[in-house]
Amino acid sequence: MRPGARAPTAPAPPVTEPTLNAARPPRERAELLEWMSGLLRTEYGERPLVPRRAPMHELISTILSQRTTHQDEEAAYQELLTLGDWDAIIEAPTEAVAHAIRRSNYPESKAPRIQATLRAIREQRGGYDLDFLAELPVKDALKWLTDLPGVGVKTASLVLLFNYARPVFPVDTHVHRINTRVGTIPRMGEQAAHRALLTLLPPDPPHLYELHVNLLRHGQRVCTWTRPKCPACVLRERCDAFAVYGNNVPSFSEKPAKS
Ligand code: SF4
Repeated sequence: MRPGARAPTAPAPPVTEPTLNAARPPRERAELLEWMSGLLRTEYGERPLVPRRAPMHELISTILSQRTTHQDEEAAYQELLTLGDWDAIIEAPTEAVAHAIRRSNYPESKAPRIQATLRAIREQRGGYDLDFLAELPVKDALKWLTDLPGVGVKTASLVLLFNYARPVFPVDTHVHRINTRVGTIPRMGEQAAHRALLTLLPPDPPHLYELHVNLLRHGQRVCTWTRPKCPACVLRERCDAFAVYGNNVPSFSEKPAKS
């Protein structure tokens, strides 16, 4: 080298963006879910799997709960029962059912769905005892429930897990939002998230129940739909949304982003 000439500098290493969780392989996202479960257990405590209400109550209340607060759902359920037993609710004018459940959102569409669901159960089972679901293979039990006119996969999963300790994982709006933001699943709809999350979780009903309930709490208190409280969140160190947006995580959109 000539005297005074500068030594050649090594080329700068390429800048690599950290891989977001949502793009990682299933094994790593399963581990992330385990990590989340442990932290949420520490935060909110152990949650033993004990049925909170009878199977038919769970089924009908979950239909009422869609887009409705817990308080209004319970009020609607209690007023629905003033129409009489399940047979009487089937026979009641649909407008009367809609009026009874008016504290729930969309009573006009829920009333005929509830009546159709009750009617289908009675026709198929000769009554309203759902305990046969405890013995059916999980796949068949899910199919039986989701074949009912007013029952989707979330409602079916709640009944099967909460009442019969079957290994399914209900995905409500809180479960969906937190898992999407953290990146345990890529962006997808709530329905698809049931299957995607279940394949990452151990088939252990008490574990599934505890995670579901603790995610619900976390979604109500910290990872809220709008203005999530990231600085107070125990999950932030491995959260995709926090990695991208910092303390300005945007409001959650249920719809998958358009590509
Ligand atoms: S860090 Fe923020 S966006 Fe991520 S899970 Fe926590 S509250 Fe939600």
